Amino acid sequence: MVRFVAYLVIALLVITLVRALMGWIARALQQLLEPATAQRSAPSYRGELKQDPVCGVYVSTETPFRKRVGDHELYFCSAQCRDRYGR
Ligand SMILES: [Zn+2]
Repeated sequence: MVRFVAYLVIALLVITLVRALMGWIARALQQLLEPATAQRSAPSYRGELKQDPVCGVYVSTETPFRKRVGDHELYFCSAQCRDRYGR
C-alpha cells in the first residue's frame, strides 16, 4: 500500500513536470511566432516596400527620405543613405 502511494506521488510529480515543460515549450513557440504575426497585423506599414539602393534595406514608399531620379522615385531608410546616393 505504501508502495502504491509512492508510485502515485511519483506519477503526479511526472505529470506536473510534463505539464510545466509543455507550457514552457508552448510559450517558447509563441515567442518565436510572435514577431511574424505582429508584423502582419501592424497598421503602421503602409504603401509599397521598396529597396534602399544604398544599404539594401526595404523601406515603405511612405518614407520621407526619397529622391526623384529621372522619371522614377528612389526610397531610402534615412537621410544619410539619401545623401550618400549618387556621390
Ligand atoms: Zn539605407
